[in-house]
Amino acid sequence: SSTLTAAKTDKYLESRLSHMEYAADPSLARGQERANAAGMPKISVSPMQGQFLSVLARGMRAEKILEIGTLAGYSTTFLARSLPSHGRIDTLEFSPLHARIAQENFIDSDLYPFPTIHIGPALDILRDPNGAFASPPGTEEGLPVDERGYDLCFIDADKGGYYGYWLECLRLTRKGGMIILDNAIQDGRITLDKNVEGQHDVSGLRKVYDWVKEDGGKTVLMSGIQTVGGKHWDGFAIAVKL
Ligand code: SAM
Repeated sequence: SSTLTAAKTDKYLESRLSHMEYAADPSLARGQERANAAGMPKISVSPMQGQFLSVLARGMRAEKILEIGTLAGYSTTFLARSLPSHGRIDTLEFSPLHARIAQENFIDSDLYPFPTIHIGPALDILRDPNGAFASPPGTEEGLPVDERGYDLCFIDADKGGYYGYWLECLRLTRKGGMIILDNAIQDGRITLDKNVEGQHDVSGLRKVYDWVKEDGGKTVLMSGIQTVGGKHWDGFAIAVKL
């Protein structure tokens, strides 16, 4: 029936499932208002998608999380709240404005552990040989911060950069850790071998899927999950590093 829509169904799910620590927390709504007032685009994950990230992070008892694409810190807040107090979350953001609003939101939400925002082009930051994400010499994974790789990486920045982010996340994730890519379906355009003008670049995503096929199941096990929602047809790709 035309009266049944994905948007209404999202609202129904939110009315039943929003958890007081997450979507029902007024500081998250204030954060979205702060982002709107600053003229930022409304492209964060939905409340149920935020809680989905939290279910995954809690289910695997994540202690170290890496996020690429902070925006106003909406998804970051779900992830940070899923961590134990000795946990750590790093989030990368290109736009100084977005990073500033996110920082205000993290303070407003009283997050602990408090997210570390790395400002600049994510690929440059991740690949900087002297930066926070450089692998110590002689190690194939891991970070200088401590010896342990990330438990969970969430990729949600510019779509053209996805393949580079994928390779860096593979390096930085511990074995058994998870890598989640948002916007992994793009209205089905991932099946097209050309970009559609005016739409997100799907070539980066396709390179990730080609990489997984080429890997032949040696390094990762990945699944692609299509979603409907308030906005459009999209989905997540979720991998575990073997
Ligand atoms: N994860 C956020 C959430 O759900 O609340 C949404 C992130 S939004 C879809 C994508 C963000 O990536 C934007 O804030 C954008 O400024 C940022 N971005 C775009 N290109 C980037 C780059 N090269 N490096 C880092 N961040 C980038």
